[in-house]
Amino acid sequence: MPQDCIFCKIIAGEAPAEFVYQDDLVVAFKDIRPAAPVHILIVPRKHIPDLTAITEEDKELLGHIHLVAVKIAKDLGLAERGFRLINNCKEEGGQVIYHLHFHLLGGRQLRLLG
Ligand code: 5GP
Ligand code: ZN
Repeated sequence: MPQDCIFCKIIAGEAPAEFVYQDDLVVAFKDIRPAAPVHILIVPRKHIPDLTAITEEDKELLGHIHLVAVKIAKDLGLAERGFRLINNCKEEGGQVIYHLHFHLLGGRQLRLLG
């Protein structure tokens, strides 16, 4: 595990987080600076730096992340009203933490991104 990766530390239990879901492949926890009433980060346990680094072997993992996102959205009462699932990829995509993650945002009307 990369020593300086905060998400690897959270996954290893070496840094705190408010978990809402965990299984063999992924963890999900509350974003430390929420941009909406619900702002959850869905993070694979495997350290993949960014979306461009995925390979054929990650196909199942990526499908699983979507199923987990829908499960969390349903559990939090967002499935009817809707929500947003986003990945920020590299610099121009606004990525800050280089451990692949998806933002699950909801609980208010979200506007178009710029
Ligand atoms: P990115 O821009 O890389 O897609 O998003 C990184 C997200 O991680 C940001 O929304 C930021 O608030 C969140 N974040 C950064 N450090 C921590 C942390 O230590 N704990 C938690 N829970 N969220 C973090
Ligand atoms: Zn990592």
